[in-house]
Amino acid sequence: MQTNFTAEQLADPYVAESEKILRRCVHCGFCTATCPTYVTLGNELDSPRGRIYLIKDMLENDRPADAEVVTHIDRCLSCLACMTTCPSGVDYMHLVDHARVHIEKTYRRPLMDRMIRQMLAMILPYPSRFRPALALARLGRPFAPLLKGIKPLRPVAAMLELAPQGRLKHSDSARPGVRAPEAARRGRVAILTGCAQPVLDGGINEAAIRLLTRLGVEVVVPEGEGCCGALVHHMGKEEPALDFARRNVDVWTREIERGGLDAIIITASGCGTTIKDYGHMLRLDRAYAEKAARVSALAKDVTEYVATLELPAQDSKGMTVAYHSACSMQHGQKITQLPKALLAKAGFKVRDPAEGHLCCGSAGTYNIMQPEISAQLKARKVRNIEATQPDVIATGNIGCMTQIGSGTALPILHTVELLDWAYGGPKPAKLA
Ligand code: SF4
Ligand code: SF4
Repeated sequence: MQTNFTAEQLADPYVAESEKILRRCVHCGFCTATCPTYVTLGNELDSPRGRIYLIKDMLENDRPADAEVVTHIDRCLSCLACMTTCPSGVDYMHLVDHARVHIEKTYRRPLMDRMIRQMLAMILPYPSRFRPALALARLGRPFAPLLKGIKPLRPVAAMLELAPQGRLKHSDSARPGVRAPEAARRGRVAILTGCAQPVLDGGINEAAIRLLTRLGVEVVVPEGEGCCGALVHHMGKEEPALDFARRNVDVWTREIERGGLDAIIITASGCGTTIKDYGHMLRLDRAYAEKAARVSALAKDVTEYVATLELPAQDSKGMTVAYHSACSMQHGQKITQLPKALLAKAGFKVRDPAEGHLCCGSAGTYNIMQPEISAQLKARKVRNIEATQPDVIATGNIGCMTQIGSGTALPILHTVELLDWAYGGPKPAKLA
């Protein structure tokens, strides 16, 4: 694609990078076929190619974002299916990241939109705030149908509906400290506790820690770890996102210097995609660029690390698993076959639902901010999963678990919970 940036514009490293990305696009349109918003809405401006044109026009003309650009960029799930499909290697992820920062800096959103975004940014990344907020949401749930009728309040209704019903189980998995290996030592890793996941389902990291320590891996939960920054990063709130990244880089760097780390284990693929990008996010920060690149190189999805431990094949469990590959797993991190291979080796019969490349509509806070499109994608995903007639659904991202779980009666588990069970851990309560 031809671009017309001035030399002065290109002196800005962010613009220079976006220009390079734009120039790779040859407008072939292959990406439109796999873009969930184009498939759902059928509007070129809700396709990757359409968004690329909008971003080019906005950046090239040094224009503040307007309502039209914001509408179509907000509808993008950042699922990155377009990057998997693109034959020219267009780095849409970093282009849309730049566009979101530009929007945040130059566009004044309507009051309710601003308030809801601010509230999400102030609550979700902090477990001590998110936990009581969920309790309140459960109380407010009966009002969801009423709020749905008031357009600006639909995100609030979506939030209430997504809040898990029933009491959340307390988990010890986020308590800082060292979990000693229970077999001959094979490695030392740190595990990300994160923000929303330990509140919504602490059992996931419990299973990961049980499995790893049983296999001889020392697992450290470092003091001071927190949200990876993805939630605010996807809202275009660059500085808070970089602050989260710097804090985690400091914590893990201390741990690397103290006892060495073979990997930083992540059990939520949305967070994994962001942490693997810390090196890029902090590339212009002289004090952090090198440390952040080292952290990104050590970041591993739990299935990537478990695969290196070469587990033995197990007898059949007589159970069919529909594997839902989160977008951040398959498109963001390009991990496609590994989790399925591990499940099959562990004795599960694994099924691939149709249209596996399409997002379930979760996408961070997307299911709150864009509830109508998200609901359509969820219904489509659940239909495809249920058509495989599984006993259980497995996936590697808490966002997908919450989203899909709110649309089906089938049990949904994290891949590592099934692996833990297959290799000597307790049967997951959801399968009882
Ligand atoms: S597939 Fe790639 S090159 Fe083709 S229009 Fe989409 S982004 Fe551009
Ligand atoms: S990230 Fe997903 S929703 Fe956004 S343009 Fe690409 S394919 Fe479409």
